[in-house]
Amino acid sequence: MQIRHAESLKTILVAGGAGFLGSHLCERLLREGHSVICADNFSTGRAENIGHLKLLGAFTARHHDIIAPLDAEVDEIYNLACPASPRHYQADPIHTTKTCVLGSLNLLELAARSGARIFQASTSEVYGDPNVHPQVEAYWGNVNPFGSRSCYDEGKRCAETLFHDFNAVHGVEIKVVRIFNTYGPRMRSDDGRVVSNFIVQALRGEDITVYGDGSQTRSFCFVDDLIDGFLRMMASPASLTGPVNLGNPAEFTVGELAELVLDLTGSRSKIVRRPLPADDPRQRRPDISQATRDLGWHPNVPLADGLKQTIAYFDGLLSAKGRKLAE
Ligand code: NAD
Ligand code: UDP
Repeated sequence: MQIRHAESLKTILVAGGAGFLGSHLCERLLREGHSVICADNFSTGRAENIGHLKLLGAFTARHHDIIAPLDAEVDEIYNLACPASPRHYQADPIHTTKTCVLGSLNLLELAARSGARIFQASTSEVYGDPNVHPQVEAYWGNVNPFGSRSCYDEGKRCAETLFHDFNAVHGVEIKVVRIFNTYGPRMRSDDGRVVSNFIVQALRGEDITVYGDGSQTRSFCFVDDLIDGFLRMMASPASLTGPVNLGNPAEFTVGELAELVLDLTGSRSKIVRRPLPADDPRQRRPDISQATRDLGWHPNVPLADGLKQTIAYFDGLLSAKGRKLAE
């Protein structure tokens, strides 16, 4: 663990800090000695994710929806607030767009008022169903503006525009990263994304639901690697505004992921096919040359190792739930 000198300790706002990635980020920042304020509406985030953080240092949680303005005395802001799973961001699409657009605007205005540096958790979804493979930051994407994924994809694209313009017009120091599929402990068992679905299904002995023929690809990054990339990006020179891709370039088909999860869990679940959702990207893999060159970053955790840690987490979670039901 790296502890910084007292003079570089900061007060940091993490919007979406009770979520999967946000709770890991809050934990890393507290372990480095910073004070952390988490602002979250607890729509997909959970109190259990952050329950232990008070024990690690100066941690405050505020119940706040970022579509309303907020005030805080802070040195840095991370904007992670937004449901990331298609199941959750499509449940209230108008609120998702508001979160991306109004939420980013409110946080950028706070950054402008307080002189804080601000980080945006953008997404590989800005590339849509990409015609360029692997995806480089210079690619403008292939996004449907009028479909079930649009609230998220276009919301995140508009957020990038706002970040760009607050930097250009008001000189706000911005840090934009485009995150590719990330997994790990503290995902919800009902999250709906592929890694958590397959693991939970395998552990429960339920059918593994492969959407479509399973030939679509994704590149899966373990959470610890990603958070390391966040911290490097935030600490980088002001001239590096992004967008910078962060993800693991090792690419797998969804069918291969299902087989790997079956193998690692030793489950006897069957693989079944379900319809492919609309606008589901066919292939996705980050080009991370920029992150490697400018941040010295590359992921270290191979998929099988990260999956083992995630399986152990869900195993504990499901056994604890089972025990609770039995009591
Ligand atoms: P998550 O759903 O676990 O976390 C999102 C958090 O934001 C939750 O705690 C939720 O309650 C909170 N939130 C949502 N809307 C809010 C609002 N209006 N006001 C305040 N809080 C709000 O998702 P995650 O996987 O931790 O993703 C975090 C961020 O990273 C998101 O912005 C997501 O778009 C981005 N991202 C994640 C991935 C990934 O693979 N995990 C990939 C690309 C981008
Ligand atoms: N997927 C699947 N079965 C599931 C959940 C997802 O086959 O139970 C597929 C989904 O259609 C997509 C890929 O896995 O092709 C990744 O889906 P996820 O929702 O995790 O992320 P995203 O589509 O946003 O990359």
